[in-house]
This record gives sequence, C-alpha cells and structure tokens, in this order.
Amino acid sequence: MLFIIISFVLLFLIWASADIRSGIYLRCICRGNRMEKAVALTFDDGPDPVHTPRILDTLKENNIKAAFFLIGSKIETYPELVKRIYDEGHIIGNHTYSHSGSYTLWSSDRIYEDIRKTNDVIYKIIGKYPIFFRPPFGVTNPLIRRAVKNRFDCIGWSIRSYDTLKFLKRDSISERIVRNIKNGDIVLLHDNREGSGLLLKSVIEGIEKKGIKIVPLDRLINKNAYEI
Ligand SMILES: [Zn+2]
Repeated sequence: MLFIIISFVLLFLIWASADIRSGIYLRCICRGNRMEKAVALTFDDGPDPVHTPRILDTLKENNIKAAFFLIGSKIETYPELVKRIYDEGHIIGNHTYSHSGSYTLWSSDRIYEDIRKTNDVIYKIIGKYPIFFRPPFGVTNPLIRRAVKNRFDCIGWSIRSYDTLKFLKRDSISERIVRNIKNGDIVLLHDNREGSGLLLKSVIEGIEKKGIKIVPLDRLINKNAYEI
C-alpha cells in the first residue's frame, strides 16, 4: 500500500514539474479566450541563422505575426536576426540565456540571473525589456517560480507540435496540429529545426482553412509583451 502511495506522489510531482499546463508551481498562460476564433504561433530556441530567416519569410508572405522565445547566448551571436524579428512586427520573449538542461537544479538567484542577462541582451538590440518568459523544456518548480514571479509572465502552450521528434514526418506533425487546433490555442513550434519553414506553411494553410485567425500572442492573451 505504502509503495502505491509513494509511486502516486512521485508521479504527481513529476507531472506537476514537467507539464507546463499543470500550474502547480508556477501559473503559466497556456491559451487565450476559447470564445474568439483566433490562435497564436510561438517559436522556441532561436535565433537560428538558417531556419529563422525562412520562418520570417513565410510569416511575411502570409502577413502573420508570431512570437519568438529566444535564447540569450544565440541572441549575442545573431543580433541582426533579433532586429529583423522585431522590425517585422513579431514579439520577442525570453527563453533564458543558457537553455541549460540542469537549470531546474539551480538556485532561484542563478535562474533569475540567467533570465535577466537575456533581457539585457535583448534590450541592447530592440530597446525594450520582454515580459513574456518561457521556461526551457516547459519545466517549472518552486525555484523557477521564485525567480520569475512578479517580474515575468510565464507563457506555456496548449498545442505542442512535437516538431523536435525526428521520427515524426512533417505532414503528420502539421495534420495533428490542424486537427487539434481550437479557438484560443497557443501553438509551440521551433525555428531551429530542419524543414521548419515548410512545416509552418502547411500549418498556416490548415489553420486558415478552418476559418481560425492567427493573431499576435499579446493580442490573444491580452497582455503587454514588454515593460512600459
Ligand atoms: Zn527551448
């Protein structure tokens, strides 16, 4: 009996930390209004010198504004891409400086420092401090909560594309997104993967065919993307 209880508690703790929608440790905004026929697209892990420009070209062709959760160390390497993202009307969010696999084990001060450093490099390029923060791997815990609380809006997602899984074919990824998409959804995509530009084209086409509008993230969730 004790074994069952311990297993249940452990599973609960893993779920609470690993599923950004759980809201147990840190309440993240994972969708907008279900009554409005609109969704938002978000891209993680850029900027990428090959794939981000392709994504930007596709967004421009379709007159769509998205949100990019950028990694600080890559921002420093490709500042001109960050400027392009911003100049073309997209939202820039904070996805930590290091995107370290071990950041969940760090102290809250170290986590905060990593996030703050990213905001500083973004400010140097666009002159604004982002408020939207997306935790790497969608993992939250009490230390991340302490680092982020009252300073940032944690942004999650309601549709995970699984575009990082190499064994999934592009067509099945976009079909799944389009089949599942509902009013108010926030879609998680990545702009550092092979074929991400082509995937985006079919995702946009499918969503628009369903009569759902793709709107900027700040509009979907009715929040400011930057400090005023
Ligand atoms: Zn990431």
